[in-house]
Amino acid sequence: MLRFFNLTVLLLAATSQAEPLSLRQSCVNALKDYKSYFKEEVLEQVCERAQKNADCASVLGEPIFHADFTGVSAKPKKIMVLSLIHGDETHAGNVGRFWMERLHKLDARNSWRIIPVANPDGVKLKTRTNSEGVDLNRNFPTIDWTAEAQNFWKNRSQASPRKFPGYAAGKEPEVRCIMQHLDEYKPDFVISIHTPLKVLDFDGPKVKPPKYSYLPWRSLGNFPGSLGRYLWVERQVPVLTTELRHDLPVNSIPFEQLQDLVGTLVQKDLK
Ligand SMILES: [Zn+2]
Repeated sequence: MLRFFNLTVLLLAATSQAEPLSLRQSCVNALKDYKSYFKEEVLEQVCERAQKNADCASVLGEPIFHADFTGVSAKPKKIMVLSLIHGDETHAGNVGRFWMERLHKLDARNSWRIIPVANPDGVKLKTRTNSEGVDLNRNFPTIDWTAEAQNFWKNRSQASPRKFPGYAAGKEPEVRCIMQHLDEYKPDFVISIHTPLKVLDFDGPKVKPPKYSYLPWRSLGNFPGSLGRYLWVERQVPVLTTELRHDLPVNSIPFEQLQDLVGTLVQKDLK
């Protein structure tokens, strides 16, 4: 009986250790090919922080991991970052990786949660959509989804397969993972990183646009099933959609400035 008990304890210990190790490795594997502005070992260190919420797996079973960084100011706000919600927008992964590594190295004012690869199947398949052919940024269950999403797609997006909103509102597992994060973390501000429209598209209250020469600050509007409509229009959580250029900057300064200006902006009362 005692031997059986010991064996069970050993097995349980082995199982509980296996999970974080493989998640760390998933994080390293998922991010190692994006350009780093830090020494290589920083990725190994920051991936020690990789966690996964219960339902956060893609259609093909890839983990959708995240990393948390706790703010040091007296009143830290919570900022959530999504990169690679569109799997073929490769440069978005550079920002996700860089911001994680930078937060690991400094004591930020605000708390940050970074989900660097929100659509792992799309990254693997080199597609904008997930493996079901759904544009995740059109699948959030906005109030108008059932009435409008398909019409909008057919009439305004010329039924482009790249912008297919899906078969039902909020049905895709990757979208459900993001929704679970929003419910649990309750961010004050969300940043979604995309390419290549060269603009900072803000869904939020009227603010004086921060100085940022790398990209202009503009509101492009939002769509049925988009994160901007789901979060800002329906929940009053501001969303900054960062549309990077095709080419990467020569150094990390534009990415540092962007992270810092969001940190400053979110300290204001954005309601
Ligand atoms: Zn995109």
